[in-house]
Amino acid sequence: MGAMATEDAQHTAQHTDASASSGRIRSFKNDPANFLAESLGGLVNHHPAAEWHDEGFLGQRTPIVTKDGKPAVAVISGGGSGHEPMHAGFLGEGMLNAVCPGLLFTSPNAVQITEATNWADQGAGVLHIVKNYTGDVMNFKVARQGLEGEVETESVLVADDVATALSSADDSDSDTDSNDDGPGRRGTAATILVEKVCGAAAYRGDDLASVAAIGREVAENSASMAAALAPGYLPTSGKDTFDLTAGSMEVGVGIHGERGVSREETTTADSIVDRLLEPVVEDQGLGDGDEVILVVNGLGGTTDLELNLIFGQALQWLADKHIIPVRSMVGTFVTSVNMHGVSLTLTKASSEVVELLDAPTQAPAWPKSLGTGTEFSAAHQVFEEDLPDEGEENEWLTAVVERIQNATDDLTELDRLAGDGDFGQNMDAAFGSVDLPLKGEDTALLDGLAHRLFVRAGGTSGAVLGTMFREMARGMDGSDNSPKDRIAGLNKGLSAAVEAVRDLGGAKPGDNTLVDALVPAAEKLAEIADSAESFEDALEQTYKAAEEGALSTREMVATKGRASYLGDASKGVVDPGAILVSWLFGGTGQVSDFTE
Ligand code: ADP
Ligand code: MG
Repeated sequence: MGAMATEDAQHTAQHTDASASSGRIRSFKNDPANFLAESLGGLVNHHPAAEWHDEGFLGQRTPIVTKDGKPAVAVISGGGSGHEPMHAGFLGEGMLNAVCPGLLFTSPNAVQITEATNWADQGAGVLHIVKNYTGDVMNFKVARQGLEGEVETESVLVADDVATALSSADDSDSDTDSNDDGPGRRGTAATILVEKVCGAAAYRGDDLASVAAIGREVAENSASMAAALAPGYLPTSGKDTFDLTAGSMEVGVGIHGERGVSREETTTADSIVDRLLEPVVEDQGLGDGDEVILVVNGLGGTTDLELNLIFGQALQWLADKHIIPVRSMVGTFVTSVNMHGVSLTLTKASSEVVELLDAPTQAPAWPKSLGTGTEFSAAHQVFEEDLPDEGEENEWLTAVVERIQNATDDLTELDRLAGDGDFGQNMDAAFGSVDLPLKGEDTALLDGLAHRLFVRAGGTSGAVLGTMFREMARGMDGSDNSPKDRIAGLNKGLSAAVEAVRDLGGAKPGDNTLVDALVPAAEKLAEIADSAESFEDALEQTYKAAEEGALSTREMVATKGRASYLGDASKGVVDPGAILVSWLFGGTGQVSDFTE
């Protein structure tokens, strides 16, 4: 694959000033000067293993010993804050023994590191795990130089981000900072793998040289690449870290809020996974039969739902290439404050590395167990087809379903104005895939539709409307399909539905729910059941009453269902459930009949 286009030479610039985040404050804070101290002060009070040292580091509360109780090699990391849970979350027996937090996106200073190193040394030496940023590299180096002759130290540099390798010419794979070509690859999500493997090796009793060696192996065998759909927002400065125009994403972002190395059109998750894994695999020369560790890492503003989805796509992608993820991690581990992005890391896995990753640790942010699955298939709920499809066309119910099918977006919009915006989707789940025209008798069709509402729709509406349809089906059961019988059956069904719906959800007329359409409809039908000229005539008269009832909800404040959480805000909006109930009897199927 070719070198990535760099849209603008400023791609490493951080925290663009021009992008004040539209005046919205999106971080909880007091005085920004105390932000980090107050956060760390909170952290130590729930962290199972960490205590704060005033010299500027977090240290393990329990003795730094091997599993046999001997003095262990101490493993230390640190870096700018803003990447939480890294590093503090990875402090604990079996992983990191001390952590030096710098200010937000600022490397820790050499004094913090020196103090932490001195404190942590048990006589077996201290390993520094350093991410490849100029400031981090320098401050760790200064600390090590100052400790020469006092504490035996080694350092492992993590430089896994292939985006920066591709953007800075000729960067080598060496684990030393290649100053000749600029700062080289950034250290990103692979850092936690290095930390885990080194921590586990030290706990197992390895000496300093061996712990460093296995750490370097993991660092060298790792590559990562990230993309973001939205910038991060800096809590202390209150600014977005870059501007992103609608429809575009940043590919090759780092973990300091910086924009990526190329701005591209936003695309589907599977394409993004391809965009990220391709250069990673290329960098590591991975192919057929290779075993890897896969890390799907959220950059701080990405939901678990999305991370799991990305993980599935990554599994699929790797399977297609016959690369085997023997262990996987999915979660938010190494962040760029709250950036809406994801990084993908692959690390060539030896059996020793896997064993060290699997070893237990008390570090709270390390997952209790790593994934071992290698096959992806979407987890669909499978529904049995439940509608009859024989006999004559049922014009009544065909029209009902048609009205609903065509209005799901508009119904959702109403629920969005006065509820939580899922009503139309719920109705689409129940009715969207119904093939029209419906064929068969009322009872069987109503039963089938009730079943669909119960199992597919979810939400309040699934339960309430499912109950309604079930009661109508029961009422019409045994009808000989004559108009008289259908009217009588529907009449019986509707009054049973009123009882059942009230019993289920406690809504009375005036509560701004579908009951406001259902009750007048049932009353009207009871009144005209004997005089109606035909089933169609009965429906039409019932519709008028239901429509009026639905319209009356416009001035009501919701007291039931999700809309009730909005209080007065639900006023002025017609209840979408009530509209739908009226359409059981007639109407054009246009939501605008009720809103204009
Ligand atoms: P939610 O989002 O509240 O779980 P839906 O969006 O699926 O539910 O359905 C909303 C509809 O449910 C409303 O339009 C209203 O008519 C109806 N509804 C809400 N609460 C009740 C209730 N207690 N009884 C009858 N219908 C209700
Ligand atoms: Mg809703």
